[in-house]
Amino acid sequence: MAQGISFRLFDVSVRERIELSPSMVRFVFAADALDQARSFGPDQRIKIFFPNAAGELAVPRGEDWYARYRNQSEVSRAPMRTYTVRALRCEQGEMDVDFAAHGDAGPASRWASRARPGDRVVLLAPHADEADSGGVEWNPPRDAREVLLIADETALPAVAGILESLTRLPRPPKVRAYIEVPLGADVIELVGPDDMQIVWLPRAAHAFAESADYGQRLIDAIRAARLQPPANDDDNDDGAERPLSEVDIDREILWEQAAATASSFYAWIAGEAGAVMAIRRHLVGERGFAKSAISFMGYWRKGRVLE
Ligand SMILES: Cc1cc2nc3c(=O)[nH]c(=O)nc-3n(C[C@H](O)[C@H](O)[C@H](O)COP(=O)(O)OP(=O)(O)OC[C@H]3O[C@@H](n4cnc5c(N)ncnc54)[C@H](O)[C@@H]3O)c2cc1C
Repeated sequence: MAQGISFRLFDVSVRERIELSPSMVRFVFAADALDQARSFGPDQRIKIFFPNAAGELAVPRGEDWYARYRNQSEVSRAPMRTYTVRALRCEQGEMDVDFAAHGDAGPASRWASRARPGDRVVLLAPHADEADSGGVEWNPPRDAREVLLIADETALPAVAGILESLTRLPRPPKVRAYIEVPLGADVIELVGPDDMQIVWLPRAAHAFAESADYGQRLIDAIRAARLQPPANDDDNDDGAERPLSEVDIDREILWEQAAATASSFYAWIAGEAGAVMAIRRHLVGERGFAKSAISFMGYWRKGRVLE
């Protein structure tokens, strides 16, 4: 998941804070310079630097800024986390980023629970002067007719963007999406193609109800659905990996990209790494889906900090 080296730093401030649901808050970031920011796909990732514990936000500048950032002590440097561009309005110098709230456990979530208009962060995002900045994984084969999306709340902003992007295709594929969210009230309206089926999977009915473990409702729903790989794809059940390799998600980042270019089926799966691994085992190992038609992305790992 290497970050495009051509990303640039943007100093921005919060223009608006919008509560999308009990567990999801949207920040509209603003800066004149954002007219030079770019988003190259619906799951465009960026990095966000937050103020450190002392409230300082000092991200080094210049050619070697990243080396100098890495050399700063952990307490003084601005914590950096990965987020998704939900919308970019260059002409207004605005970018929307949606944050899933998970209390005070991490600097990003802590910041999001308190941030108000005027508060500042620094974004590391693609710039207009750079041709290929990377940071986009959504890449369905041109002839894909069936798309499967599996996500938790951290990947919901990307899924919302993906669904919107499909409405702009002349002949959108059929889409089935499974989305796990913290609460029943976190189900939001999504705009997508006509042939779209969304299965919402709240971990708890409401804030005071018992909650399922992270990812468990997704795993159970995918197993129960007994999904079938497409019958006629050439690279279906590519057999490239038998037995299926394991990824040590407590040491590595789970980040596998679909490579098939001629498949009629494409899946994009992102969320808590343990859940994504369990779904990978089920779809590829047990149901015979071609690994080459599926992107598996651990957006976060329970108990670990991923920058
Ligand atoms: C490509 C990519 C795009 C992403 N886009 C978004 C996005 O648009 N919106 C979004 O909200 N997140 C997104 N994420 C996930 C986000 O980067 C992580 O959730 C991140 O860990 C949050 O940082 P933090 O400082 O709040 O917590 P950290 O300091 O990273 O973690 C502290 C503790 O909280 C746990 N934790 C982290 N995230 C969660 C969570 N969501 N729920 C419960 N526990 C958690 C960790 O396991 C750890 O134990 C994205 C991740 C990737 C890789």
